[in-house]
Amino acid sequence: MNTVAGVLEAARRKLPASEARLLLGHVLCQSAAWLLAHGEQVLDEDDLRAFASLVARRAGGEPVAYLVGRREFFGRDFEVSPAVLIPRPETELLVDIALAKVGAGETARVLDLGTGSGCIAISLALELPQARVTAVDASAAALAVARRNADRLSARLRCVQSDWFDALGEEEFDLIVANPPYVAAADPHLAAGDLRHEPATALASGTDGLDDLRRIIAGSPAHLAPGGQLWLEHGHDQAPAVQDLLGRAGLTAIEQHRDLAGIKRVSGGRLSPQPASGHTR
Ligand code: GLN
Repeated sequence: MNTVAGVLEAARRKLPASEARLLLGHVLCQSAAWLLAHGEQVLDEDDLRAFASLVARRAGGEPVAYLVGRREFFGRDFEVSPAVLIPRPETELLVDIALAKVGAGETARVLDLGTGSGCIAISLALELPQARVTAVDASAAALAVARRNADRLSARLRCVQSDWFDALGEEEFDLIVANPPYVAAADPHLAAGDLRHEPATALASGTDGLDDLRRIIAGSPAHLAPGGQLWLEHGHDQAPAVQDLLGRAGLTAIEQHRDLAGIKRVSGGRLSPQPASGHTR
């Protein structure tokens, strides 16, 4: 039966029902609620073909977010493409913490390193209307996605193509955030599930997964204003190493926050409010 309910039922042999609904909703430009209320609606040939193709691609392993070109993050819909990491729910913790640390009325200068889809930078820009948010990525293709997301969501965002801090001169920020690549290069997860289809440069970072976290942490003091803060997402087993790196970079008031699974996942600290005398930055 080529009705909405019929094709969803048939797709359940290959996919979870929630994924089939997302894919059919995408083809028909309709919500899950609409699909539920219109189970008797008959699909035309083009829609049937488009849905069958998406079901086959999903069954072949392609991420739903890339197939529909969208993923929700922090209550908003973001465009995604294979040029960017798919926003993860865990990363909302980084946004929550950044928001708790910066007052809504502050004219904070905020930097998001490795912005990808722009989900962190744009969420912060929209929640902190007074902030001036800069989003950096080494990938021009990723920055184009971030730019489109910022424009569609009416977020004020400055995009800069840069390998971490390289193109930022001596600019200083009150808050630096990043969800950098932090997976060890030989981690078998990279060859499984959705991760196979995501940009390797957004995921893998050297033999212990810490190469980019090391660069970001070491480079931060020179780009933090006095009292400025650095907050980072990292891997489930990297909290001790990141704490050590933050301390060695001279950051203080170091905190480590647990995700919903109870794993220390976001760490950060601040530069002392008074530049230490004789301290070279
Ligand atoms: N948390 C992601 C994963 O393991 C990795 C994201 C990242 O490297 N920043 O799927």
